[in-house]
Amino acid sequence: MRDRRGAKEAAANQVRGQRRNDDQENGPDCPATGYHLQRLSRRSYLVLGLLAVVASVVVVAWMVRGRRHQRLEPVIPTDGVSLPLAQNRAANISDLRYALSLTIPERKEEAIRGHETISFRLADASLPLLVDFAQSADHVSSLSSGSQTISISASHGHLVIPPTSLREGENQLTIDFIGGDAPLNRNDDFLYSLFVPARASQTFPCFDQPDLKGALTLTLEVPAGWEAVANGFERDRQTQSGRTVMHFAATQPLPTYLYGFAAGRFSIERSDREGRVFRLFHRETDPAKVARNRDAIFNLHESALKWLEDYTGRAYSFDKLDFVLIPSFQFAGMEHAGAIFYNASSLLLDETATQEQELARANVIAHETSHMWFGDLVTMKWFDDVWLKEVFANFMAAKIVNPSFPNINHDLKFLIEHYPPAYEIDRTPAPNPIRQQLDNLNEAGSLYGNIIYDKAPIVMRQLEEILGPDNLRDGLRDYLNRFAFRNATWTDLINMLDARTDENLAAWSHAWVDEPGRPTITTDVTRKADEMTGLAFSQSDPRKRQLIWNQHLQIALGYAGGVRITPLHLSSERAVMPINSSLPAPSYILPNGEGVGYGLFRLDAETKAFFLAHLPETGHSITRATAWITLWDDMLEGGTQPKQLIDLALRSLPAELEQQNVDLVLGYLDEAYWTFITDADRTALAPQVEAVLRAGIQNARERSLKASYFAAFRQMVLTDGGVAYLRRLWSKQDTIAGLPFAEPDFIAMAQALAIRGVAGAPQLLEEQLARIQNPDRRARFAFVMPALSPDEAVRDQFFAGLANVENRRHEPWVLDALAALNHPLRAAHAERYIKPSLDLLQSIQRTGDIFFPMRWTRAALSGHNSPAAAKVVTDFLSQQPNYPPRLMQIVEQASDTLMRASRIVPDSGRR
Ligand SMILES: [Zn+2]
Repeated sequence: MRDRRGAKEAAANQVRGQRRNDDQENGPDCPATGYHLQRLSRRSYLVLGLLAVVASVVVVAWMVRGRRHQRLEPVIPTDGVSLPLAQNRAANISDLRYALSLTIPERKEEAIRGHETISFRLADASLPLLVDFAQSADHVSSLSSGSQTISISASHGHLVIPPTSLREGENQLTIDFIGGDAPLNRNDDFLYSLFVPARASQTFPCFDQPDLKGALTLTLEVPAGWEAVANGFERDRQTQSGRTVMHFAATQPLPTYLYGFAAGRFSIERSDREGRVFRLFHRETDPAKVARNRDAIFNLHESALKWLEDYTGRAYSFDKLDFVLIPSFQFAGMEHAGAIFYNASSLLLDETATQEQELARANVIAHETSHMWFGDLVTMKWFDDVWLKEVFANFMAAKIVNPSFPNINHDLKFLIEHYPPAYEIDRTPAPNPIRQQLDNLNEAGSLYGNIIYDKAPIVMRQLEEILGPDNLRDGLRDYLNRFAFRNATWTDLINMLDARTDENLAAWSHAWVDEPGRPTITTDVTRKADEMTGLAFSQSDPRKRQLIWNQHLQIALGYAGGVRITPLHLSSERAVMPINSSLPAPSYILPNGEGVGYGLFRLDAETKAFFLAHLPETGHSITRATAWITLWDDMLEGGTQPKQLIDLALRSLPAELEQQNVDLVLGYLDEAYWTFITDADRTALAPQVEAVLRAGIQNARERSLKASYFAAFRQMVLTDGGVAYLRRLWSKQDTIAGLPFAEPDFIAMAQALAIRGVAGAPQLLEEQLARIQNPDRRARFAFVMPALSPDEAVRDQFFAGLANVENRRHEPWVLDALAALNHPLRAAHAERYIKPSLDLLQSIQRTGDIFFPMRWTRAALSGHNSPAAAKVVTDFLSQQPNYPPRLMQIVEQASDTLMRASRIVPDSGRR
């Protein structure tokens, strides 16, 4: 699966709630929808409770017998799929097959009826068997094993099959049921399934864990006129009395999270590529848009498939490949074997699409296609390794796609996309490792975050560096062949690769994958007159575990004539660089040269001074970006002063021609400006900052660069003249040549103006509301408006309303509003919201989507930098001894910037 573009940016950019206003970019973009609690009626709870008691008695009775036979340990039913339950079943069940029929009514309000036969072999039939079905027992109308009818017993989302109805060897359960709707995304004339990570069992009874792979034979009965697509190819269809029955061929063994089907009013495009027929299902009504994109979509899939077959040495494993374009799909893509689902808007591009958008499209196609091997053919054993399939898909996608976009500096892109977000977590007091313990699949959602998306790719690049590209490829071929159609763990892979290198991969993996945090890397340089006589680098573990982060560095030495790169292997506490005795002293020493090297880099004093003075003139774009990232870290550690970085940004921007670097520097400028200096300093700096940003808007040649500068100006503007200019732009009395504004731009300007308390702000907001044509954006703006009000009582009342879960349904709207309430210009008043925001977290985790607790906390703290605000957070944490550890970690990660700012910003003269 692939999160929608901007998942983490959206989170970061919620900071002041204005950088992005487009619904699409702030939309639901998490890669796994997590676990949605079924809302059962009171009566269902009673029934369930009684059944649970009965079932527990049955289980306890059989525990005794289980022990006597020295066989499998029994598992007490709990909600979700626990690790013991999964391990128990994986050891017991084999040769699993599902024959599933679903009857889909025309109207989405009517229930979907299902009939299913689950066939499997059991090694041990002495214990009750739990089949996952997260619905109340009254959703099951009949249950039988072979010819024997079983009375229905359900407990904690499982059907309990008594041992008297089971036997060693072949078993067959037949079930009639009403399928749960939640994972089926039912719309008026189409629906689609989305079962990842363990939601198939909300729709139909199954063993909902990744290491019980089963062949699925699916039958769908749908209204006549509907199309349908599933993992297997369509074998036949009959239409009668307004209903069409479609039979799909049995699939290869697949885990339930990869089962996928869609049905409804779809158009189909076909293309025959050297005997391989691709089909594209879509609902686009603009034929020109389809015509413009169809060949590119087919070509990109074809070339990705060919590349992967060549790289892996294995032909595509599934019988056919279809693509389903779904409007407002939750993710950018989901890799259902043989039927990839995509967000329609990321594949059907407009005529004005930028190179970035084309790259993103090629990337998501290559990513999902890579999953056919990494994830679908070989699947992780448990979701603690979900990062592995994601990092492989990204890694392959970059190899497949990047050569087709030679104008983009991909190494720079990798550095800027992954290092800052990974550091953002690893520098906090509570970082999480890449591979996290997962006790139950209903917590799988909490694994996702910057460490999986950003640190894991960095670690994978190191693995390739250690093994060499060809050696890694050969190791992966062995791995795919050995585990094809089965499951494997990260440890399985590392053990196989370990044989291919002299380095101790197990130790490497322990530090990078199993443990959280990063090393501190220090430069030890000795200079004599104009010569450098000694150079070494040492690493230490800030968390005092004595960990060694084995890594290959590229040491950059700067000279007037250019940069000199020397590789250095830092495999122990200290690595000495061999120095030719006549080596002149460099103007800078960057241990993380070429954007390679992970850690907190403590630069030597000369290097730091050089960059603060001369960074804009440094020749390489990747050196400039690396220096910025390193200086920013240094500022957060209390070294470089925030005002020095602001000054450096203002000198850098006019000279910087690489857009990726401009965006990086604008982001740092914004954060330093709002979070790390006093209000008085900000007011004093405002004219200079605005002048640089307006010059940037003026001088930028490309529209996207103009847009970056304008967004930064809109976010930072403070002077009367600047605000008046923004108001003229908003009221269309003024324009910017080469930068046409769309509806989301005007909305963002209106929000910025309101927060700055311009005269007549309430009328301005009303006028903006009236201007909005798009109904979704209009509803969103109407929701956020009270949070923008100049009247504190209105804001207080709105905030109080967020305690009601009904007012938190539209999470991106809530985040916009919360960031507006806590804007730095309103932080003094908003300090009173911090404690209640934290108090709501547990409720937010229960009722919200997986990224919501983190984003909520970030938004609630976004505008604050005072010691008083920091104290509210530390008091909250210290007063909750039994607080859930995962939420505690979220608060500690999300409050790290506030904690640092409260130490760095001088307290006098503030607000
Ligand atoms: Zn993926």
